[in-house]
Amino acid sequence: MNVYDSGRMADLLAPLGYEETGTPEMADMVILNTCHIREKAAEKVYSELGRLRPLKEERRAAGGDMLIAVAGCVAQAEGEEMARRAPVVDLIVGPQTYHRLPELVAQAHRSTGAVLDTDFPAESKFDHLPYTQRSEGPAAFLSVQEGCDKFCTFCVVPYTRGAEFSRPVGDVLIEARRLVDGGVRELTLLGQNVNAYHGPGPAGDAWTLAGLIRALAEIPSLDRIRYTTSHPRDMSDDLIAAHGEVEQLMPYLHLPVQSGSDAILKAMNRRHTADDYLRKIEKIRAARPDIALSCDFIVGFPGESDADFADTLKLINTVNFASAFSFKYSARPGTPASTAGSQVPEQVKSERLSALQQLLTAQQTAFNHASIGRTAPVLFEKAGRQPGQLIGRSPWLQAVFVDADDSLLGNITEVTLVKAQTNSLAGELTGDGKIRWSTVDKVA
Ligand code: SAH
Ligand code: SF4
Repeated sequence: MNVYDSGRMADLLAPLGYEETGTPEMADMVILNTCHIREKAAEKVYSELGRLRPLKEERRAAGGDMLIAVAGCVAQAEGEEMARRAPVVDLIVGPQTYHRLPELVAQAHRSTGAVLDTDFPAESKFDHLPYTQRSEGPAAFLSVQEGCDKFCTFCVVPYTRGAEFSRPVGDVLIEARRLVDGGVRELTLLGQNVNAYHGPGPAGDAWTLAGLIRALAEIPSLDRIRYTTSHPRDMSDDLIAAHGEVEQLMPYLHLPVQSGSDAILKAMNRRHTADDYLRKIEKIRAARPDIALSCDFIVGFPGESDADFADTLKLINTVNFASAFSFKYSARPGTPASTAGSQVPEQVKSERLSALQQLLTAQQTAFNHASIGRTAPVLFEKAGRQPGQLIGRSPWLQAVFVDADDSLLGNITEVTLVKAQTNSLAGELTGDGKIRWSTVDKVA
Protein backbone atom coordinates (compact mmCIF):
# COMPACT_ATOMS: atom_id res chain seq x y z
CA MET A 1 0.00 0.00 0.00
CA ASN A 2 2.92 2.34 0.59
CA VAL A 3 3.91 1.84 -3.06
CA TYR A 4 0.39 2.89 -4.09
CA ASP A 5 0.38 5.84 -1.65
CA SER A 6 3.79 7.01 -2.87
CA GLY A 7 2.47 7.07 -6.44
CA ARG A 8 -0.48 9.18 -5.32
CA MET A 9 1.86 11.59 -3.51
CA ALA A 10 3.84 12.01 -6.73
CA ASP A 11 0.55 12.68 -8.60
CA LEU A 12 -0.39 15.32 -6.00
CA LEU A 13 2.95 17.08 -6.22
CA ALA A 14 3.25 17.04 -10.02
CA PRO A 15 1.11 20.19 -10.48
CA LEU A 16 3.54 22.01 -8.17
CA GLY A 17 6.33 21.24 -10.61
CA TYR A 18 7.85 18.28 -8.78
CA GLU A 19 8.95 15.23 -10.73
CA GLU A 20 10.59 12.03 -9.51
CA THR A 21 14.38 11.80 -9.47
CA GLY A 22 16.54 8.71 -9.57
CA THR A 23 18.57 9.52 -6.45
CA PRO A 24 18.11 11.63 -3.30
CA GLU A 25 21.20 13.68 -4.25
CA MET A 26 19.22 15.24 -7.10
CA ALA A 27 16.07 15.90 -5.08
CA ASP A 28 14.63 19.20 -3.85
CA MET A 29 12.37 17.18 -1.59
CA VAL A 30 12.70 13.65 -0.20
CA ILE A 31 9.66 11.84 1.20
CA LEU A 32 10.29 8.74 3.31
CA ASN A 33 7.08 6.77 3.19
CA THR A 34 7.30 4.56 6.23
CA CYS A 35 5.98 1.33 7.77
CA HIS A 36 5.38 0.72 11.47
CA ILE A 37 4.27 -2.91 11.34
CA ARG A 38 7.45 -4.29 12.95
CA GLU A 39 10.20 -2.59 14.90
CA LYS A 40 12.81 -3.23 12.21
CA ALA A 41 10.76 -1.43 9.57
CA ALA A 42 10.34 1.58 11.90
CA GLU A 43 14.06 1.71 12.77
CA LYS A 44 15.01 2.08 9.12
CA VAL A 45 13.49 5.56 9.08
CA TYR A 46 16.02 6.99 11.54
CA SER A 47 18.97 5.44 9.73
CA GLU A 48 17.68 6.86 6.41
CA LEU A 49 17.31 10.29 8.04
CA GLY A 50 20.93 10.01 9.21
CA ARG A 51 21.98 9.44 5.59
CA LEU A 52 19.96 12.38 4.31
CA ARG A 53 21.21 14.93 6.85
CA PRO A 54 24.62 15.58 5.21
CA LEU A 55 22.90 15.98 1.81
CA LYS A 56 20.58 18.61 3.24
CA GLU A 57 23.48 20.38 4.96
CA GLU A 58 25.50 20.43 1.73
CA ARG A 59 22.53 21.87 -0.12
CA ARG A 60 22.09 24.58 2.52
CA ALA A 61 25.80 25.42 2.46
CA ALA A 62 25.42 26.00 -1.28
CA GLY A 63 22.53 28.43 -0.64
CA GLY A 64 19.70 26.01 -1.50
CA ASP A 65 17.64 23.57 0.55
CA MET A 66 16.27 20.06 0.53
CA LEU A 67 12.87 19.51 2.10
CA ILE A 68 12.71 16.28 4.11
CA ALA A 69 9.30 14.76 4.74
CA VAL A 70 8.31 11.62 6.63
CA ALA A 71 4.98 10.07 5.64
CA GLY A 72 3.20 6.82 6.49
CA CYS A 73 2.59 4.91 9.68
CA VAL A 74 5.81 5.78 11.56
CA ALA A 75 4.92 9.43 11.03
CA GLN A 76 1.44 8.69 12.35
CA ALA A 77 2.61 6.78 15.43
CA GLU A 78 5.72 8.73 16.38
CA GLY A 79 5.25 12.13 14.72
CA GLU A 80 5.76 14.35 17.73
CA GLU A 81 8.67 12.36 19.09
CA MET A 82 10.24 12.35 15.62
CA ALA A 83 10.00 16.14 15.36
CA ARG A 84 12.04 16.34 18.59
CA ARG A 85 14.44 13.48 17.89
CA ALA A 86 15.20 14.33 14.24
CA PRO A 87 15.28 18.11 13.67
CA VAL A 88 16.35 17.43 10.07
CA VAL A 89 12.69 16.59 9.31
CA ASP A 90 10.66 19.48 7.85
CA LEU A 91 7.31 17.79 7.40
CA ILE A 92 5.51 14.87 9.04
CA VAL A 93 2.30 13.54 7.51
CA GLY A 94 0.20 10.46 8.37
CA PRO A 95 -1.39 8.00 5.93
CA GLN A 96 -4.86 9.59 6.11
CA THR A 97 -3.85 13.21 5.45
CA TYR A 98 -1.30 13.07 2.67
CA HIS A 99 -3.84 14.62 0.28
CA ARG A 100 -2.90 17.87 2.08
CA LEU A 101 0.73 17.60 0.93
CA PRO A 102 0.68 20.60 -1.45
CA GLU A 103 -0.49 22.88 1.37
CA LEU A 104 1.87 21.26 3.90
CA VAL A 105 4.84 21.73 1.55
CA ALA A 106 4.02 25.43 1.27
CA GLN A 107 3.80 25.67 5.08
CA ALA A 108 7.09 23.80 5.50
CA HIS A 109 8.83 26.30 3.23
CA ARG A 110 7.67 29.13 5.52
CA SER A 111 8.13 27.40 8.87
CA THR A 112 11.29 26.96 10.93
CA GLY A 113 10.24 23.84 12.91
CA ALA A 114 8.63 20.67 11.54
CA VAL A 115 5.08 20.91 10.16
CA LEU A 116 3.00 18.03 11.52
CA ASP A 117 -0.31 16.58 10.26
CA THR A 118 -1.36 13.25 11.74
CA ASP A 119 -5.13 13.77 11.96
CA PHE A 120 -7.74 11.16 11.22
CA PRO A 121 -10.10 13.48 9.31
CA ALA A 122 -13.80 12.62 9.21
CA GLU A 123 -13.83 12.76 5.42
CA SER A 124 -11.78 10.37 3.36
CA LYS A 125 -8.56 11.46 1.67
CA PHE A 126 -9.84 9.69 -1.46
CA ASP A 127 -12.42 12.48 -1.86
CA HIS A 128 -9.51 14.88 -2.38
CA LEU A 129 -7.00 12.82 -4.31
CA PRO A 130 -6.73 13.06 -8.08
CA TYR A 131 -7.35 9.71 -9.81
CA THR A 132 -4.15 7.81 -10.45
CA GLN A 133 -2.52 9.32 -13.49
CA ARG A 134 -0.15 6.60 -14.50
CA SER A 135 1.38 3.24 -13.73
CA GLU A 136 5.02 2.27 -14.07
CA GLY A 137 4.16 -0.99 -15.81
CA PRO A 138 1.33 -3.25 -16.92
CA ALA A 139 0.65 -4.46 -13.36
CA ALA A 140 -0.67 -1.83 -10.94
CA PHE A 141 -1.91 -1.57 -7.38
CA LEU A 142 -5.25 -0.01 -6.57
CA SER A 143 -6.29 0.72 -2.97
CA VAL A 144 -9.93 -0.15 -2.36
CA GLN A 145 -9.99 -0.57 1.40
CA GLU A 146 -7.95 0.83 4.27
CA GLY A 147 -7.57 0.51 7.99
CA CYS A 148 -8.92 -2.23 10.22
CA ASP A 149 -11.37 -2.76 13.07
CA LYS A 150 -10.23 -6.26 14.04
CA PHE A 151 -7.64 -5.34 16.68
CA CYS A 152 -5.47 -8.43 16.62
CA THR A 153 -3.47 -8.06 19.83
CA PHE A 154 -0.06 -7.84 18.06
CA CYS A 155 -0.99 -5.35 15.37
CA VAL A 156 -0.58 -1.56 15.03
CA VAL A 157 -2.69 -1.18 11.88
CA PRO A 158 -5.94 -0.14 13.62
CA TYR A 159 -3.98 2.61 15.41
CA THR A 160 -1.89 3.85 12.49
CA ARG A 161 -4.13 3.41 9.43
CA GLY A 162 -7.27 3.99 11.46
CA ALA A 163 -10.79 2.55 11.24
CA GLU A 164 -11.88 0.29 8.41
CA PHE A 165 -12.96 2.19 5.30
CA SER A 166 -14.02 1.04 1.83
CA ARG A 167 -13.93 3.25 -1.26
CA PRO A 168 -17.17 3.54 -3.25
CA VAL A 169 -17.52 1.08 -6.13
CA GLY A 170 -17.91 3.89 -8.70
CA ASP A 171 -14.60 5.51 -7.68
CA VAL A 172 -12.75 2.21 -7.89
CA LEU A 173 -14.19 1.51 -11.35
CA ILE A 174 -13.21 4.96 -12.65
CA GLU A 175 -9.67 4.59 -11.37
CA ALA A 176 -9.41 1.05 -12.73
CA ARG A 177 -10.61 2.14 -16.20
CA ARG A 178 -8.07 4.98 -16.26
CA LEU A 179 -5.27 2.61 -15.38
CA VAL A 180 -6.37 0.13 -18.06
CA ASP A 181 -6.58 2.97 -20.63
CA GLY A 182 -2.97 3.72 -19.71
CA GLY A 183 -1.87 0.16 -20.55
CA VAL A 184 -2.44 -1.73 -17.30
CA ARG A 185 -3.42 -5.37 -17.78
CA GLU A 186 -3.31 -6.56 -14.18
CA LEU A 187 -4.72 -4.92 -11.06
CA THR A 188 -4.02 -5.89 -7.47
CA LEU A 189 -6.75 -4.55 -5.22
CA LEU A 190 -5.26 -3.44 -1.93
CA GLY A 191 -6.45 -3.20 1.63
CA GLN A 192 -5.11 -4.08 5.06
CA ASN A 193 -8.17 -6.27 5.27
CA VAL A 194 -9.31 -6.19 1.67
CA ASN A 195 -11.86 -8.99 1.79
CA ALA A 196 -13.82 -7.04 4.42
CA TYR A 197 -14.54 -4.59 1.55
CA HIS A 198 -18.07 -3.19 1.81
CA GLY A 199 -17.99 -0.04 -0.33
CA PRO A 200 -21.24 1.60 -1.42
CA GLY A 201 -22.44 0.67 -4.90
CA PRO A 202 -24.29 3.04 -7.25
CA ALA A 203 -27.59 2.46 -5.38
CA GLY A 204 -25.96 3.16 -2.02
CA ASP A 205 -26.06 -0.46 -0.81
CA ALA A 206 -22.83 -2.10 0.36
CA TRP A 207 -21.06 -4.28 -2.21
CA THR A 208 -18.82 -7.19 -1.31
CA LEU A 209 -15.32 -7.67 -2.69
CA ALA A 210 -16.70 -10.46 -4.88
CA GLY A 211 -19.22 -8.01 -6.40
CA LEU A 212 -16.47 -5.46 -7.02
CA ILE A 213 -14.28 -8.09 -8.68
CA ARG A 214 -17.11 -9.21 -10.95
CA ALA A 215 -17.70 -5.57 -12.02
CA LEU A 216 -13.97 -5.03 -12.66
CA ALA A 217 -13.88 -8.22 -14.73
CA GLU A 218 -16.17 -6.50 -17.25
CA ILE A 219 -13.55 -3.87 -18.10
CA PRO A 220 -12.19 -4.82 -21.55
CA SER A 221 -8.42 -5.52 -21.58
CA LEU A 222 -8.22 -5.90 -17.82
CA ASP A 223 -6.96 -9.47 -18.02
CA ARG A 224 -5.86 -10.13 -14.47
CA ILE A 225 -7.26 -9.28 -11.06
CA ARG A 226 -5.66 -10.06 -7.70
CA TYR A 227 -6.30 -8.80 -4.17
CA THR A 228 -4.37 -8.62 -0.93
CA THR A 229 -4.39 -8.90 2.15
CA SER A 230 -7.27 -10.98 3.40
CA HIS A 231 -8.48 -12.18 6.78
CA PRO A 232 -9.71 -15.79 7.01
CA ARG A 233 -12.95 -14.73 8.72
CA ASP A 234 -13.89 -12.48 5.80
CA MET A 235 -13.28 -15.20 3.19
CA SER A 236 -16.98 -15.39 2.35
CA ASP A 237 -18.73 -17.97 0.19
CA ASP A 238 -19.40 -15.47 -2.61
CA LEU A 239 -15.70 -14.56 -2.75
CA ILE A 240 -14.72 -18.23 -2.81
CA ALA A 241 -17.25 -18.82 -5.60
CA ALA A 242 -15.73 -15.93 -7.59
CA HIS A 243 -12.43 -17.82 -7.59
CA GLY A 244 -14.13 -20.63 -9.49
CA GLU A 245 -16.12 -18.40 -11.83
CA VAL A 246 -14.26 -15.21 -12.71
CA GLU A 247 -11.63 -16.06 -15.30
CA GLN A 248 -9.68 -12.83 -14.71
CA LEU A 249 -9.32 -13.56 -10.99
CA MET A 250 -5.88 -15.15 -10.78
CA PRO A 251 -5.41 -18.52 -9.03
CA TYR A 252 -3.39 -17.09 -6.15
CA LEU A 253 -4.54 -16.19 -2.66
CA HIS A 254 -2.63 -14.64 0.23
CA LEU A 255 -4.56 -15.69 3.33
CA PRO A 256 -2.57 -15.16 6.54
CA VAL A 257 -3.19 -17.53 9.45
CA GLN A 258 -0.33 -16.30 11.73
CA SER A 259 -0.31 -19.47 13.88
CA GLY A 260 -1.55 -23.06 13.85
CA SER A 261 -2.23 -23.15 17.59
CA ASP A 262 -5.77 -22.45 18.80
CA ALA A 263 -4.50 -21.07 22.12
CA ILE A 264 -2.23 -18.59 20.32
CA LEU A 265 -4.90 -17.68 17.77
CA LYS A 266 -7.20 -16.90 20.70
CA ALA A 267 -4.55 -14.80 22.44
CA MET A 268 -4.00 -13.00 19.14
CA ASN A 269 -7.74 -12.23 18.97
CA ARG A 270 -7.91 -13.73 15.47
CA ARG A 271 -11.38 -15.10 16.19
CA HIS A 272 -10.93 -18.34 14.26
CA THR A 273 -9.35 -21.73 14.98
CA ALA A 274 -6.77 -23.66 12.97
CA ASP A 275 -9.55 -26.00 11.88
CA ASP A 276 -11.74 -23.08 10.67
CA TYR A 277 -8.79 -22.04 8.51
CA LEU A 278 -8.27 -25.53 7.10
CA ARG A 279 -11.95 -25.82 6.24
CA LYS A 280 -11.81 -22.49 4.35
CA ILE A 281 -8.79 -23.77 2.43
CA GLU A 282 -10.68 -26.93 1.47
CA LYS A 283 -13.59 -24.84 0.14
CA ILE A 284 -11.25 -22.56 -1.80
CA ARG A 285 -9.45 -25.52 -3.34
CA ALA A 286 -12.77 -27.08 -4.27
CA ALA A 287 -13.71 -23.87 -6.12
CA ARG A 288 -10.31 -23.43 -7.79
CA PRO A 289 -8.21 -26.60 -7.60
CA ASP A 290 -4.99 -25.07 -9.01
CA ILE A 291 -4.95 -22.12 -6.59
CA ALA A 292 -1.55 -21.17 -5.15
CA LEU A 293 -1.81 -20.37 -1.46
CA SER A 294 0.34 -17.90 0.39
CA CYS A 295 0.42 -17.00 4.07
CA ASP A 296 1.92 -14.89 6.88
CA PHE A 297 3.23 -16.38 10.12
CA ILE A 298 4.37 -14.87 13.39
CA VAL A 299 6.68 -16.97 15.57
CA GLY A 300 7.35 -16.27 19.21
CA PHE A 301 4.06 -14.54 20.03
CA PRO A 302 3.92 -14.09 23.85
CA GLY A 303 3.17 -17.42 25.53
CA GLU A 304 3.95 -19.56 22.44
CA SER A 305 5.18 -22.96 23.69
CA ASP A 306 7.03 -25.66 21.76
CA ALA A 307 3.71 -27.47 21.39
CA ASP A 308 2.03 -24.34 19.97
CA PHE A 309 4.86 -23.96 17.50
CA ALA A 310 4.58 -27.64 16.54
CA ASP A 311 0.90 -26.97 15.73
CA THR A 312 1.99 -24.25 13.31
CA LEU A 313 4.37 -26.65 11.55
CA LYS A 314 1.56 -29.20 11.41
CA LEU A 315 -0.80 -26.70 9.77
CA ILE A 316 1.88 -25.82 7.20
CA ASN A 317 2.35 -29.50 6.40
CA THR A 318 -1.40 -29.94 5.99
CA VAL A 319 -1.89 -26.96 3.66
CA ASN A 320 1.27 -26.94 1.54
CA PHE A 321 1.92 -23.29 0.67
CA ALA A 322 3.23 -21.95 -2.63
CA SER A 323 4.87 -19.04 -0.82
CA ALA A 324 4.84 -17.37 2.59
CA PHE A 325 6.15 -14.52 4.71
CA SER A 326 7.23 -15.21 8.27
CA PHE A 327 8.31 -12.90 11.05
CA LYS A 328 9.52 -12.97 14.61
CA TYR A 329 6.94 -11.41 16.89
CA SER A 330 7.82 -7.75 17.34
CA ALA A 331 6.33 -5.90 20.32
CA ARG A 332 4.55 -2.80 19.01
CA PRO A 333 3.91 0.13 21.33
CA GLY A 334 0.29 0.49 22.41
CA THR A 335 -0.79 -3.04 21.40
CA PRO A 336 -2.11 -5.42 24.11
CA ALA A 337 0.41 -8.22 23.37
CA SER A 338 3.39 -5.90 23.82
CA THR A 339 2.85 -5.81 27.59
CA ALA A 340 2.07 -9.53 28.08
CA GLY A 341 4.30 -11.07 30.76
CA SER A 342 5.18 -14.18 28.77
CA GLN A 343 7.47 -12.74 26.07
CA VAL A 344 9.45 -15.43 24.23
CA PRO A 345 13.27 -15.14 24.40
CA GLU A 346 14.95 -13.83 21.25
CA GLN A 347 16.97 -17.01 20.73
CA VAL A 348 13.87 -19.21 20.81
CA LYS A 349 12.22 -16.89 18.28
CA SER A 350 15.25 -17.18 15.99
CA GLU A 351 15.32 -20.98 16.20
CA ARG A 352 11.61 -21.26 15.49
CA LEU A 353 11.80 -18.81 12.59
CA SER A 354 14.60 -20.74 10.95
CA ALA A 355 12.78 -24.10 11.33
CA LEU A 356 9.60 -22.55 9.95
CA GLN A 357 11.36 -20.92 7.02
CA GLN A 358 13.15 -24.13 6.14
CA LEU A 359 9.82 -25.91 5.81
CA LEU A 360 8.19 -23.03 3.88
CA THR A 361 11.14 -22.69 1.50
CA ALA A 362 10.98 -26.42 0.79
CA GLN A 363 7.27 -26.11 -0.02
CA GLN A 364 7.85 -23.09 -2.26
CA THR A 365 10.66 -24.86 -4.13
CA ALA A 366 8.48 -27.96 -4.57
CA PHE A 367 5.61 -25.81 -5.86
CA ASN A 368 7.89 -24.19 -8.45
CA HIS A 369 9.36 -27.55 -9.48
CA ALA A 370 5.88 -28.95 -9.99
CA SER A 371 5.32 -26.17 -12.57
CA ILE A 372 8.07 -27.44 -14.87
CA GLY A 373 6.66 -28.58 -18.19
CA ARG A 374 3.49 -26.52 -17.72
CA THR A 375 2.46 -23.92 -20.29
CA ALA A 376 1.18 -20.72 -18.75
CA PRO A 377 0.23 -17.20 -19.81
CA VAL A 378 2.91 -14.78 -18.58
CA LEU A 379 2.42 -11.02 -18.31
CA PHE A 380 5.77 -9.39 -19.12
CA GLU A 381 6.41 -6.53 -16.70
CA LYS A 382 10.01 -5.42 -17.17
CA ALA A 383 13.44 -6.10 -18.65
CA GLY A 384 15.45 -8.88 -17.02
CA ARG A 385 19.00 -8.61 -15.71
CA GLN A 386 20.50 -10.20 -18.84
CA PRO A 387 20.19 -8.42 -22.19
CA GLY A 388 17.38 -9.85 -24.30
CA GLN A 389 15.57 -11.14 -21.24
CA LEU A 390 12.16 -10.14 -19.87
CA ILE A 391 10.60 -10.82 -16.46
CA GLY A 392 6.94 -11.56 -16.07
CA ARG A 393 4.49 -13.25 -13.73
CA SER A 394 2.63 -16.50 -14.10
CA PRO A 395 -1.02 -16.64 -12.99
CA TRP A 396 0.29 -18.15 -9.72
CA LEU A 397 2.41 -15.02 -9.12
CA GLN A 398 5.70 -16.77 -9.84
CA ALA A 399 8.43 -14.60 -11.38
CA VAL A 400 9.30 -16.01 -14.82
CA PHE A 401 12.46 -15.13 -16.81
CA VAL A 402 12.24 -15.55 -20.56
CA ASP A 403 14.51 -14.67 -23.52
CA ALA A 404 12.13 -12.42 -25.41
CA ASP A 405 11.91 -9.27 -27.44
CA ASP A 406 11.01 -5.93 -25.80
CA SER A 407 7.90 -5.77 -27.98
CA LEU A 408 6.33 -8.31 -25.62
CA LEU A 409 6.58 -5.93 -22.64
CA GLY A 410 3.09 -5.25 -21.29
CA ASN A 411 1.67 -8.26 -23.13
CA ILE A 412 0.55 -11.67 -22.04
CA THR A 413 2.09 -14.56 -23.93
CA GLU A 414 2.10 -18.33 -23.57
CA VAL A 415 5.32 -19.60 -22.03
CA THR A 416 6.55 -23.11 -21.29
CA LEU A 417 8.09 -23.27 -17.82
CA VAL A 418 11.37 -25.15 -18.11
CA LYS A 419 13.46 -24.60 -14.98
CA ALA A 420 12.67 -23.81 -11.35
CA GLN A 421 14.39 -22.15 -8.44
CA THR A 422 13.05 -21.17 -5.05
CA ASN A 423 12.11 -17.63 -6.09
CA SER A 424 11.71 -17.80 -9.84
CA LEU A 425 11.24 -19.91 -12.95
CA ALA A 426 12.86 -19.89 -16.36
CA GLY A 427 10.53 -20.15 -19.33
CA GLU A 428 10.59 -20.34 -23.11
CA LEU A 429 8.15 -18.72 -25.51
CA THR A 430 5.65 -21.26 -26.76
CA GLY A 431 4.92 -21.47 -30.51
CA ASP A 432 5.77 -18.28 -32.40
CA GLY A 433 5.96 -16.38 -29.11
CA LYS A 434 3.84 -13.60 -30.54
CA ILE A 435 0.44 -14.74 -29.37
CA ARG A 436 -1.09 -11.93 -27.41
CA TRP A 437 -3.19 -13.77 -24.90
CA SER A 438 -6.12 -12.01 -23.39
CA THR A 439 -8.89 -13.43 -21.29
CA VAL A 440 -11.28 -10.93 -22.72
CA ASP A 441 -10.29 -11.66 -26.34
CA LYS A 442 -10.72 -15.35 -25.62
CA VAL A 443 -14.18 -14.90 -24.16
CA ALA A 444 -15.23 -12.68 -27.06
N1 SAH B 1 -4.61 -7.94 7.79
C1 SAH B 1 -3.67 -8.98 7.64
C2 SAH B 1 -2.27 -8.61 8.11
C3 SAH B 1 -1.69 -7.29 7.78
S1 SAH B 1 -0.17 -6.94 8.61
C4 SAH B 1 -4.13 -10.17 8.49
O1 SAH B 1 -5.01 -10.01 9.30
O2 SAH B 1 -3.61 -11.24 8.39
C5 SAH B 1 0.96 -7.91 7.65
C6 SAH B 1 1.67 -9.00 8.41
O3 SAH B 1 2.63 -8.46 9.29
C7 SAH B 1 0.77 -9.83 9.30
O4 SAH B 1 0.11 -10.84 8.60
C8 SAH B 1 1.71 -10.39 10.34
O5 SAH B 1 2.20 -11.65 9.98
C9 SAH B 1 2.84 -9.35 10.36
N2 SAH B 1 2.81 -8.61 11.63
C10 SAH B 1 1.91 -7.69 12.01
N3 SAH B 1 2.20 -7.25 13.27
C11 SAH B 1 3.31 -7.92 13.66
C12 SAH B 1 4.09 -7.91 14.84
N4 SAH B 1 3.77 -7.16 15.87
N5 SAH B 1 5.18 -8.72 14.90
C13 SAH B 1 5.50 -9.52 13.85
N6 SAH B 1 4.80 -9.56 12.72
C14 SAH B 1 3.71 -8.78 12.61
FE1 SF4 C 1 -3.78 -6.14 11.89
FE2 SF4 C 1 -4.80 -7.77 10.03
FE3 SF4 C 1 -5.47 -8.08 12.59
FE4 SF4 C 1 -6.35 -5.96 11.24
S1 SF4 C 1 -6.87 -8.12 10.85
S2 SF4 C 1 -5.54 -5.96 13.31
S3 SF4 C 1 -4.60 -5.52 9.91
S4 SF4 C 1 -3.43 -8.35 11.65
